[in-house]
Amino acid sequence: MEAKQIEVCKKKLLELRSEHIKEMQIMEQDNLRNSMQSVSGNLSAYSQHMAETAADSFEREKNIGLLSTVNSMIKEINDALCKINNNSYGICEICNQEISFIRLEAIPYARHCINCKRNMEKK
Ligand SMILES: [Zn+2]
Repeated sequence: MEAKQIEVCKKKLLELRSEHIKEMQIMEQDNLRNSMQSVSGNLSAYSQHMAETAADSFEREKNIGLLSTVNSMIKEINDALCKINNNSYGICEICNQEISFIRLEAIPYARHCINCKRNMEKK
């Protein structure tokens, strides 16, 4: 892989990472607000707020699910950035062949080449 191409991917990775970090912060704030709301709900007329509390906890669970997705994305991005530093970026973890630049442009944190990915999906 050419240094110039790696630069392009690195830039994308850094942009993606800061987007995800921002998303995560917004979700964490939402979670905090939701849990504070349900605490005050519990103190006042509980039964009236049952439906709302249920909706809140559903929202919260959805957020937690999202949060872990975003978290693992950030981990993938960090791993890819590590590989750039180790000069092992863009190499498939299964067959050790170079991953095509087109694929990396679309998914800069891809660990596997398109062939291995397809094989994995078949299984
Ligand atoms: Zn491969």
